[in-house]
Amino acid sequence: MSILHATTGIDLDNTAVGYAYRDTAELRQAAWLFRLLRYGPLVRLANTLGATALRLGLPIDPLLRKTLGKLFLGGESLQETIPLLKKLSTYGVSTMLDYAAEASADPTEQEATLAEYLRMLTFAQEHPQWVSFVAVKLTALASPLLWEKLSAGEPLSPALQKEKQAFTQRFETLLHKAIETQIPLMVDAEESWVQPAIDEIVEKYMQEINKERALLYTTVQMYRRDRLDYLKNLMSSAKSYIVGIKLVRGAYVEKERRRARERGYPDPIQPSKAATDIAYDAALMECLEHIDHVAVCIATHNRNSCMKAAQHAILYKWPLDHPHLSFSQLYGMADPLSFGLAKAGFRVAKYVPYGPLYKAFPYLSRRAEENSSLSDQSGRELRWIEEELLRRRRLRSP
Ligand SMILES: Cc1cc2nc3c(=O)[nH]c(=O)nc-3n(C[C@H](O)[C@H](O)[C@H](O)COP(=O)(O)OP(=O)(O)OC[C@H]3O[C@@H](n4cnc5c(N)ncnc54)[C@H](O)[C@@H]3O)c2cc1C
Repeated sequence: MSILHATTGIDLDNTAVGYAYRDTAELRQAAWLFRLLRYGPLVRLANTLGATALRLGLPIDPLLRKTLGKLFLGGESLQETIPLLKKLSTYGVSTMLDYAAEASADPTEQEATLAEYLRMLTFAQEHPQWVSFVAVKLTALASPLLWEKLSAGEPLSPALQKEKQAFTQRFETLLHKAIETQIPLMVDAEESWVQPAIDEIVEKYMQEINKERALLYTTVQMYRRDRLDYLKNLMSSAKSYIVGIKLVRGAYVEKERRRARERGYPDPIQPSKAATDIAYDAALMECLEHIDHVAVCIATHNRNSCMKAAQHAILYKWPLDHPHLSFSQLYGMADPLSFGLAKAGFRVAKYVPYGPLYKAFPYLSRRAEENSSLSDQSGRELRWIEEELLRRRRLRSP
């Protein structure tokens, strides 16, 4: 038992708790896959081949379904997620539903994504015991080009003007539904060159609709050097509404650095992983210290960050299911943290993506990269799963 477990009663290392919802065959398969993912060059090659195969219409669905899809995807439709959501809820773990739609410039596709977001909100309202949040991506509702132009303050062509109007209508429809269903929306954070316009619009509507509770959350990426100041400003300007914040480290380190290099502007990303960790924990404390008007979702697989937030809540004797504090980890990852926190009494929402495999492929390849040999996540999942498999073997043969 760790010192933290002894003093707080929170155990984030308990694989028996973390994997109780998985049978041994599932865990063996997950271990096999995580072992495979350690071969970085293989992952990158598979990602490239997979994307090409999908573009050419080659039938790789069965393979994806049995591998990455099984591990990281809740299902290929909303209906298909139900058995998983039910199972998670029996362990006190709720979900943040995510429709795996990527950025799109096609209005028909944008409308289809909006329709699916609306379906998710209705579904969440009908099943409040399963779903706490709905995640949305604004570049799936209007083209990345529009966000980029708006972010750079550039003039819009008549076509983009029209698209902006269409987006506003779509977003307002979505917000009305969130108000009607009382299900909070979490807006994903994206690349730094589209984020300023996303921030502006989310902040504007947060002020309007987060009067009594946080129904709209923005996402703040703490790997960005400028985000601690951004967060402090956002919080200080918000006294008459509740600021909803999903706090993440950030998913696009390489892409951000590459673009900065190519275009010759300063790297917007923290100089090291350690610097990102310091910024994340500083942001986390800022949010917790203003918990009366900040609702924060600690969205991380980092054990230390989760523990810091949990300890703070215990130290200040908050009810652990405080409405302004929640934790989230991606489905298929960091289960000992999610289930350990839920067991202790915190609000935990597993981030469960679903959708057709061809749409979910970019999400799945990001997960594969994240768990490959070059990443921090590499090894962490496998160690947990191997520990649990060993524990179960020992139980069977005393
Ligand atoms: C529920 C949930 C929702 C998410 N939503 C979003 C979202 O909307 N937008 C988004 O961008 N990401 C999102 N992410 C992904 C997130 O940003 C991280 O990429 C991922 O969670 C890994 O970070 P960590 O905090 O879990 O863990 P850790 O493994 O402790 O940290 C890894 C992270 O540290 C940072 N890092 C690693 N190396 C370096 C380096 N050399 N220099 C500087 N920083 C470095 C990177 O951000 C990397 O992802 C989400 C994650 C979760 C769990």
